[in-house]
Amino acid sequence: MFPARFNYYRAESLPEVLDLLARHGSEGKILAGGQSVIPLMKLRLASPAVLIDINRVRELQAIAGDERGGLRIGALTRHHHMEIKKWPRSLALLMDAARDIGDPQVRNLGTVGGALAEVDPAGDWGPVMLSLGARVRAVSPKGERTLPIDELFVDAFTTCLAEDELLREVEIPPLSDGTGTAYLKMERKAGDFAIASAAVRVNRSPDGRCQDVGIGLGGVGLVPLRARGAEDLLRGSNLEEELIREAEESVRKECEPLADIRGSVEFKRQVVGVLFRRALKIALRRAQGEEVEAGHV
Ligand SMILES: Cc1cc2nc3c(=O)[nH]c(=O)nc-3n(C[C@H](O)[C@H](O)[C@H](O)COP(=O)(O)OP(=O)(O)OC[C@H]3O[C@@H](n4cnc5c(N)ncnc54)[C@H](O)[C@@H]3O)c2cc1C
Repeated sequence: MFPARFNYYRAESLPEVLDLLARHGSEGKILAGGQSVIPLMKLRLASPAVLIDINRVRELQAIAGDERGGLRIGALTRHHHMEIKKWPRSLALLMDAARDIGDPQVRNLGTVGGALAEVDPAGDWGPVMLSLGARVRAVSPKGERTLPIDELFVDAFTTCLAEDELLREVEIPPLSDGTGTAYLKMERKAGDFAIASAAVRVNRSPDGRCQDVGIGLGGVGLVPLRARGAEDLLRGSNLEEELIREAEESVRKECEPLADIRGSVEFKRQVVGVLFRRALKIALRRAQGEEVEAGHV
């Protein structure tokens, strides 16, 4: 299939993107890796009058530390760069997630910002960024704002961004010592979106208590979900086995899966609970300095 006619603009700088957004906002669409928008245009499920290509805008491609010890990931960072970057051990889940996204072509072209802006319910970066308590920085011709990642996801394939707003970067807050993270995804076959997935960030004090925890779930709702009930159960506890089982049940209750080609509601609930428990165990071992493989299930 061929897309409908459209005008194409290639921006060379951020001010140029903002100028193009100001001129074409409601008619235009940002083109990042093109791994979602181009297939949709070919199927004529999307027919933007204008495509604004941001691939040459260098300031959207950087990964940098910030003054508080956190991390800023430019929206145009490719999945592949997330896969090959040497992350601190506390951020091992970034590699867990990146290496299982699609296939090499998708990973070479697709971007973190594009994937978050797409809000695919089964996408991988959503649950990861939710578990990390990330924030996104958005910029438009009217100015800049920063918002918690939870607020970005409004509905399936829908963000809270205005038509003339660009997702500029993702901010990951600093992680305290003793933090471990893990991301697990179950897929039907290599390269597929998740049947369900779970991202966990956990921090344990020297006396074994859970100081903080973040849990993100994918594939089990219209948007990536944060399992706040399970987080509340675990936070402050000694992470006893019985309590972890309770948290697993809470994860199952908190999610809202839909039946589709990837499985029934009951199946997805079952899977996401198990993924959460396994991801938590891996994150805890990593927090103690162990090298543990995660990857797909
Ligand atoms: C075969 C295949 C398999 C895949 N498997 C997976 C998978 O396993 N896991 C997974 O998570 N994803 C998967 N994807 C999706 C992939 O991650 C895409 O890269 C991603 O969804 C979109 O990123 P992109 O950079 O290609 O964005 P584009 O396709 O260029 O854009 C997507 C949407 O986001 C908007 N947009 C892009 N960048 C910005 C920005 N900075 N600010 C505001 N709006 C923006 C665009 O206007 C468009 O509406 C797969 C895709 C394919 C084709």
